[in-house]
Amino acid sequence: MKRGFYIGRFQPYHNGHQSVLECIAEEVDEIIIGVGSAQLSHTIDNPFTAGERVLMITRALSLLGCPFYVIPIEDIKRNALWVAHVQSMTPPFDLCYSSNSLVVRLFNEANVKVQSPAMYERETHSGTEIRRRMLKGEPWKSLVPSSVVQVIKEIDGVGRLRQIAQAD
Ligand code: ATP
Ligand code: MG
Repeated sequence: MKRGFYIGRFQPYHNGHQSVLECIAEEVDEIIIGVGSAQLSHTIDNPFTAGERVLMITRALSLLGCPFYVIPIEDIKRNALWVAHVQSMTPPFDLCYSSNSLVVRLFNEANVKVQSPAMYERETHSGTEIRRRMLKGEPWKSLVPSSVVQVIKEIDGVGRLRQIAQAD
């Protein structure tokens, strides 16, 4: 049984994440998806709750054909202990998929194998760019799975982001 671990903040979950996970699904028996900074929501950089992000991911991967677990992981402010923190919250896994240099470094130091997936149209497919477009009223729906568009509509995600961005 080979399990792979993939972590992100998923603010929001987008087609770049989806494309990476579809590739990982070909390589492992089970996928563990960590929802990072789980305690954060209702800020401009982290508008969605962990529960809302779990909903986005679960719905977008309903046809994946590879079993997966979606696990919220709160930040601890001790990088040296972070891998152990992650491992305490997840089923055991054999390798980690990440292109984030700090994540790669921390897992390497903990002797966990790491693979860095290629970026998928990174210019447009980034959480930062999608949040910017939502705020500016520019097109963003083509950058996320249709099920994620639906979740964001259900929770009035764009309205929330615009309201919290307003000055008092
Ligand atoms: P933000 O701009 O808010 O940081 P992000 O698009 O980088 O959002 P994260 O949730 O930070 O998304 O990313 C989780 C993981 O997905 C990271 O390892 C990141 O490198 C990777 N990732 C992000 N965008 C893409 C993409 N377009 N293609 C492949 N991997 C991606
Ligand atoms: Mg990022």
